[in-house]
Amino acid sequence: MELSVNSQALAYLASAILFIFALKGLTHPATARRGNMYGMLGMAIAIGATLMGAEVQSYGFIIAGVLAGAVIGGILAARIQMTAMPQLVAALHSFVGMAAVLVAIGTFLNKAAANALNPVLMGELSAGIIIGAITFTGSVIAFGKLQGLISGQPVKFAGQHALNAAIALATLALGVHFALTGSGWSLTLMTLLAFVLGVTLIIPIGGADMPVIISMLNSYSGWAAAATGFTLGNNLLIIVGALVGFSGAILSFIMCKAMNRSIFNVVFGGFGSGDGGGGDSAGAQAAAKGVKSASVEDAVYWMEDANKVIIVPGYGMAVSQAQHSVKELMELLNARGVEVKFAIHPVAGRMPGHMNVLLAEADIPYDAVQEMDEINPEFATADVCLVVGANDVVNPAAKTDKSSPIYGMPILEAGKARQVYFLKRSMRPGYSGVDNLLFYQDNTSLVFGDAKDTIEGMCTALKGGGH
Ligand code: NDP
Repeated sequence: MELSVNSQALAYLASAILFIFALKGLTHPATARRGNMYGMLGMAIAIGATLMGAEVQSYGFIIAGVLAGAVIGGILAARIQMTAMPQLVAALHSFVGMAAVLVAIGTFLNKAAANALNPVLMGELSAGIIIGAITFTGSVIAFGKLQGLISGQPVKFAGQHALNAAIALATLALGVHFALTGSGWSLTLMTLLAFVLGVTLIIPIGGADMPVIISMLNSYSGWAAAATGFTLGNNLLIIVGALVGFSGAILSFIMCKAMNRSIFNVVFGGFGSGDGGGGDSAGAQAAAKGVKSASVEDAVYWMEDANKVIIVPGYGMAVSQAQHSVKELMELLNARGVEVKFAIHPVAGRMPGHMNVLLAEADIPYDAVQEMDEINPEFATADVCLVVGANDVVNPAAKTDKSSPIYGMPILEAGKARQVYFLKRSMRPGYSGVDNLLFYQDNTSLVFGDAKDTIEGMCTALKGGGH
């Protein structure tokens, strides 16, 4: 069955509306699943309407491509660890970028053969190729850094910004020349330079700025898709590309704000802080530094008689996959009449919404999960704050130490609780690589060990009647 142009346009409109509902749904954990369903439905309608369009000449290659993509995508989705999500996203963006480049070059060759080139079309092709090529190589470099295939440290050299500016200007000039003349040489050189620019723009970025760059590349991939939409005359691609382009840009901005980074510096300055590091012995090092360590039983002693316990999850909870044990701990405490709440920092973990996803996976009720601004006034009324693998997001240095790289980042006021217990494996710092001043506070103790093991120990102690 072949769809008429009007029916196809209507189907695309329905998809576009569903995509907008999908984005809206994804703004809150309680509606995120519904949002995903809208997105899937929208995409199914979009693919169906496209496949039934008049422009499809044969289905052989399409079916082969869909099958290969579905198999690879299915395996990847089933095997991917939550902590490796950023690099998977980077890899997927690189495909969007490459697709934009290939579609544009294919369109050029077709139209050139049919003698149907015009400056407006060639301008669109230039835009698609430049954005797509930058997205492709930029995402490949980001993937390599996050996957540890190349150094995650920023690569910097003298004259870097001038070099980037020169390449960008030359690429744009070639784009204009191509649009006006249709020269194959300009097209080739422009494409190569845009590929190089993707590399030189991303190599100076590293450390904690990487996820912001992934979100920026997400935005670029949206613009690349929109440019492809213009090339193919496909309104849905233009709409979806713009939605992705803007939402990626807005997310990058929100992340920069939550990390007290300037978006301009992240994108052009290439200043990142590396992966942290430091020593690796636990108890002895802690004592040498004047930090108190505590046992599982100590923490349980304070928690079982508490009125309120606030749990601050962080990256370490994701690493140890402690979310299900955390849920059990919550239930055991609830059964003893202890109120348990979760405090979520906007950049806890390694990607936006990381903690919300893990807590939702463990079926922790949404009303127990509170955002930073909402929960901060409550710390002063909590008997215990249990910090499960979080570090930077509760570090008071962000408020007091002007020389600290995290200075200015809003934090969770964990230190205001009567007792603070940090669950971590060692004295190593968090992502920003800076020492946590809260470790040295009188009411703070560190319970060393893998977070999941420690929490399981707490559950056992609570089940066995505590200390
Ligand atoms: P941090 O990176 O500050 O700290 C993680 C803590 O988890 C460390 O103290 C580590 O200590 C501990 N840890 C690691 N593995 C385990 C384990 N198996 N068991 C117990 N503890 C463990 O995490 P936060 O969530 O507090 O902060 C996030 C950081 O990441 C911020 O600096 C933020 O800016 C940055 N970031 C976040 C992004 C986001 O979108 N969420 C994006 C980009 C950066 P130890 O090794 O001793 O166990």
